[in-house]
Amino acid sequence: MALETAAEPLAAQPRRGVLLILSSPSGAGKSTLTRALLDTDDQITLSISATTRAKRPSEADGVHYRFLKQRDFDVMRDAGELLEFAEVHGNCYGTPKEPVEQALRDGRDVLFDIDWQGTRQVREAMPEDVVTVFILPPSVPELKARLERRAENTPEDIRRRLRNAAIEIERGSNYEYSVVNDDFERCLNEVRAILQAERLKRWRQPSLDAKAARLIQELSAD
Ligand code: GDP
Ligand code: ADP
Ligand code: 5GP
Repeated sequence: MALETAAEPLAAQPRRGVLLILSSPSGAGKSTLTRALLDTDDQITLSISATTRAKRPSEADGVHYRFLKQRDFDVMRDAGELLEFAEVHGNCYGTPKEPVEQALRDGRDVLFDIDWQGTRQVREAMPEDVVTVFILPPSVPELKARLERRAENTPEDIRRRLRNAAIEIERGSNYEYSVVNDDFERCLNEVRAILQAERLKRWRQPSLDAKAARLIQELSAD
């Protein structure tokens, strides 16, 4: 990495944002982890997906998802406004591109709650920025119990989500990090530690190269 250019002093360059992707089988706790991370970290922004699935009673349009009719979803996709899209559990989901690009320009991190198909596409589009974390449930009975306790899916939908869980877990072997959501606080702290370490990677902090150069200069002037 070059230490400094005349056009843009490194000290003025913002930190390069992390695109943090969380995936798991449905019910493992992504949404709960996402909420907790957003509540306690003001440098990270949630990527709000567009989806054709029905809104759950606990969800708000524009907060959890942008709930769209199939026709409107297709218009967005065909206009090239989605960074990635996939069909998951029989519904369409996609990541709007513009907010992600804006966050990166601002030196902010972006959090994604997307499936393995979407992860693959975002990684292809932005390979350097993506950090992938797979969340495993502690056991199958606990995964079932969480889906039932959440009480936001029909029995048929829960069966479908459990059928898809094995595929999702299998795809988890392509993720860089893996955490088990058993004790929630421990799991949350592990995700925070991953994010923190990734933020500190040298290439994401070009301004520190300028600092290093100044320290060397000062030391050699003595
Ligand atoms: P949950 O798994 O119970 O949280 O159920 P959701 O209905 O919220 O999500 C359904 C699936 O769609 C999950 O696997 C998500 O990771 C995935 N998903 C959500 N948003 C996106 C997106 O923008 N793009 C893609 N590709 N997948 C998404
Ligand atoms: P996902 O977004 O992966 O489908 P959720 O975040 O909606 O999963 O979590 C599913 C259910 O499990 C929710 O009712 C949530 O409160 C609960 N849950 C999440 N993490 C834990 C945990 N560590 N221990 C017990 N229950 C949990
Ligand atoms: P739910 O319907 O329970 O909200 O989400 C089901 C699955 O869809 C979850 O695994 C979630 O991560 C995934 N998902 C949500 N939004 C997107 C998206 O924009 N793109 C992709 N690929 N998956 C998504």
